[in-house]
Amino acid sequence: MKKTFDALDRALPHIQDLHAYVPGEQPQGEGWVKLNTNENPYAPSPKVADAIAAQLADLRKYPEPISAKLRAAIGQRFGLEQANVIIGNGSDNILDLITRCFASAPGAGHTVPSYSLYPVVAGMSGQGLLDVNFDRSMQLDVDAMAATQAKVFFLTNPNAPTGVAFPLSQIEAALQAIDGLLVVDEAYVDFGGESAVTLLKDYENLVVVRTFSKSYGLAGMRVGFAMAAAPIIGILDRVRDAYNLDRVAQAAALAAFEDVDYFEVQRQKVMATREATRAQLDAYGWFTYPSATNFLFTEPKNAAGESNAEVAADLFEHLKSQRVLVRYFPSHPLTCAFIRVSIGTDAEMKAFLTAVESWPNHA
Ligand code: PMP
Repeated sequence: MKKTFDALDRALPHIQDLHAYVPGEQPQGEGWVKLNTNENPYAPSPKVADAIAAQLADLRKYPEPISAKLRAAIGQRFGLEQANVIIGNGSDNILDLITRCFASAPGAGHTVPSYSLYPVVAGMSGQGLLDVNFDRSMQLDVDAMAATQAKVFFLTNPNAPTGVAFPLSQIEAALQAIDGLLVVDEAYVDFGGESAVTLLKDYENLVVVRTFSKSYGLAGMRVGFAMAAAPIIGILDRVRDAYNLDRVAQAAALAAFEDVDYFEVQRQKVMATREATRAQLDAYGWFTYPSATNFLFTEPKNAAGESNAEVAADLFEHLKSQRVLVRYFPSHPLTCAFIRVSIGTDAEMKAFLTAVESWPNHA
């Protein structure tokens, strides 16, 4: 006999209410200029290929469980111990671990806008989500952050999706003001932000989260890491999957991390292309936030000089019709008049600008 099971009814109440994270569109088929998910336009270091190839013969064996070599190399680079570092299956994995371990009531705080995974991991914890809204000035309101009484506060620095970087003095003020853990998500810091790593020696309530997905060009490999006081890392290790990083990913990330010359060249290229693209957007008379990241957050104007949600959505659709994919965020008053464009190669940015100029509403 068949047996029924009402999954929706049986799921825990906070899971019933959960909306899954929706990743940026990954278009199938050829011919797209893909500038919507802040990937690096350049291939990772050629040493990554050799490192991956060297693992093939050992794929029958389980990986080293704690990614020890990678932890040690990262610790050494940042003047920390191996015990201050944890590696994740993407930094998303680490954001989830932190929430599960530390976000007791009243829950996890975040700024709006920022990374849309935070509400999802907060939702999975069954605790609350506490918002601190930015206004157009994108000034950090440390008092409002503290007033949430969040047990974990996610602060993206530089911010996504605007690209705005906050100075270390403000991060330090937040560390002083809040009672819980401050998670500084530095996914984009290599493109021009100031890292909070130097504050780790004085603040045990700080976790710095990084990723190999952006500046190292390894989004497809899923490797992220966090740095914090050893007791925090120890707690995260208790809930981490035993083999959360496969052999290939560990080897690839280590090879990319050690090829500092290659890293530096690609990073500089991305930043130079960003500034050249920005100059063109300025020439259109559009408002664009200063970016310390590998993307630009810009407010398009139509021929009548208007900027609003309809104008931005219209440009987004036009670009898509030209097979140029950028990101449009409809939801928040601050985001809905803007589009976010990831920095690609010079040729990709030229294709983007050409498509903008073919927009029927372009001035
Ligand atoms: N933090 C921020 C702010 C991001 O934009 C992203 C990428 N979407 C991540 C973390 C996740 O990076 P990863 O690929 O390491 O999971």
